[in-house]
Amino acid sequence: MNRIAILLGFFILVCMDTTNAKMPAGMDARFDNYKENFVLELWKVYPGWASSVGYHKYDSVLVIPDEASRNRELTFCKAELDSLKKFKLAELSDLNKIDYHLIENQLKYAQWGINEEKAYEWNPASYNVSESFANMLGNDYADINTRLRNFYTRMDAVSDYYSAAKHNIKNPTKEHTTLAMEQNSGGLSVFTDDLNEALKKSTLRDTEQAAIKERAIQVVSAIKRYTSWLGKLPNANPRSFRLGSELYAKKFQYEIQSGYTAEQIYKKALEHKDELLVKMHDITTKLWPKYMAGKPIPGDRSLAIRQMIDVLSLNHTQPDSFQAAIEHQLPELVAFIKNKDLIYIDPSKPLVVRKEPAYMAGVAGASINAPGPYDKNGNTYYNVGSLSGWDKDKAESYLREYNHYILQILNIHEAIPGHYTQLVYANQSPSIIKSILGNNAMIEGWAVYGERMMLENGYDGDRGVNSTEASPEMWLMYYKWNLRSTCNTILDYSVHTKNMSKEEAMNLLVNEAFQQQAEAEGKWNRVSVTQVQLDCYFTGYTEIYDLRQSLKESMGAKFNLKKFHEQFLSYGSAPVKYIRELMAPVNIPAGR
Ligand code: ZN
Ligand code: ZN
Repeated sequence: MNRIAILLGFFILVCMDTTNAKMPAGMDARFDNYKENFVLELWKVYPGWASSVGYHKYDSVLVIPDEASRNRELTFCKAELDSLKKFKLAELSDLNKIDYHLIENQLKYAQWGINEEKAYEWNPASYNVSESFANMLGNDYADINTRLRNFYTRMDAVSDYYSAAKHNIKNPTKEHTTLAMEQNSGGLSVFTDDLNEALKKSTLRDTEQAAIKERAIQVVSAIKRYTSWLGKLPNANPRSFRLGSELYAKKFQYEIQSGYTAEQIYKKALEHKDELLVKMHDITTKLWPKYMAGKPIPGDRSLAIRQMIDVLSLNHTQPDSFQAAIEHQLPELVAFIKNKDLIYIDPSKPLVVRKEPAYMAGVAGASINAPGPYDKNGNTYYNVGSLSGWDKDKAESYLREYNHYILQILNIHEAIPGHYTQLVYANQSPSIIKSILGNNAMIEGWAVYGERMMLENGYDGDRGVNSTEASPEMWLMYYKWNLRSTCNTILDYSVHTKNMSKEEAMNLLVNEAFQQQAEAEGKWNRVSVTQVQLDCYFTGYTEIYDLRQSLKESMGAKFNLKKFHEQFLSYGSAPVKYIRELMAPVNIPAGR
């Protein structure tokens, strides 16, 4: 979930050579060629994106974000959209149909970004070079000398880069201006300490090292000039950070690629929240005598639920057994899934559990770290954070949040049958398109769906592989967790299209979703500088669940849960609405 570092950006093993697949005929063969060429052209237009997914041919290139580059991008989009029109969608294979939609969506999204959204004018935080340079130092895809030479060439464009940024910015939002100053200042160490460390490891001659250091000084001063310019920018009537209904509806369409509109999803989230609160109160009432003997139950629904959650949260592991607790659960999840016949788990691809690497230190919890599309032989890791070195209060608060129950749900979400299992299936239908343009709402939606599906089938770590019913404690905590995704959507939509105030947002998150004050503050900060992304969890989950329910209804006794899961995942990281067209062609959802 969003509080945990999720490194799912790049995944799926991909082969760029077509020799190992059986050669498809006609339209599909032509489309496969087209896709390969499309990706090569894409990387020319977006060299930074290419580097980030492990394609390093253009590492030395930094695009100056000026009007000329936006025009090149628009020309590229128009040309590729024209090329797409030469293919007849109906004649393509199912997997290529989805790739066609993904490419088309990407191109239209980019056009819309330049022509309508125009974040390059109002979001100063969209300009920041440090992360891409940091990746060149931190990832050892090539020898250090080569990486440093590319680093050097690329630095040459930084000054022009920030000049173009200043030229673009008009009437920015206060929130993105502050963020830009923080993030750009935070990235300065890449060009000082981090660079010096890397130079020490290299065998570059002194003169070359000196030239690199000299240019890095200029980069640092260009970044400082940018942040101080932002600090002094006259901005009497800053643009609101709220996106507004019209742009929001479009961004939702391109980013989430749902069969529902943003408004429909918002309404569904409101209904779902009410249902969850009713269920949570029922469980609280039932459990009350067991945990609160002699104490009267508060008349206020939220207060009663919160008190019960607080008591259950005391059941948690200790800092030194946190990692062991997570590792211990994985084989139990696999055994349960096998016993209940929920989905095939390939035993030849076990998940490699490791302590989180140093560069991720401080991010506790767990995350999946998968190889990029150009890194065929890379391992997929389950990074498990360590709480060692944390002060007592911070560790205690963290462990209550990731208590005995939530920790099980976290493992389901991140690993099995959540993100990791989805990844294994996605790798079986390799497509470079799905690996670089994969749909986040489907990916997150699957993980969120998996949580509910496991509990519906009786999963409860305390009750073993034959459990037929999860405990009420487990359900209550699951509902709290699910409330978080649900409220992410309510929050995002309300803030950006309905003028929700910070006070109202805090009330929603703290009093209706039982979050800690600090967590809620963090969420408010996030929603002030992002739009739509927070919708992906609930939207994907809802669409997958709805698809399953409609197939259950139409197929009756013939419906098989295991088959449903396996077929669903076989299409790769595709938008659920397209999977739906292929799995349930008669049941196109209402909305669009
Ligand atoms: Zn996730
Ligand atoms: Zn404790």
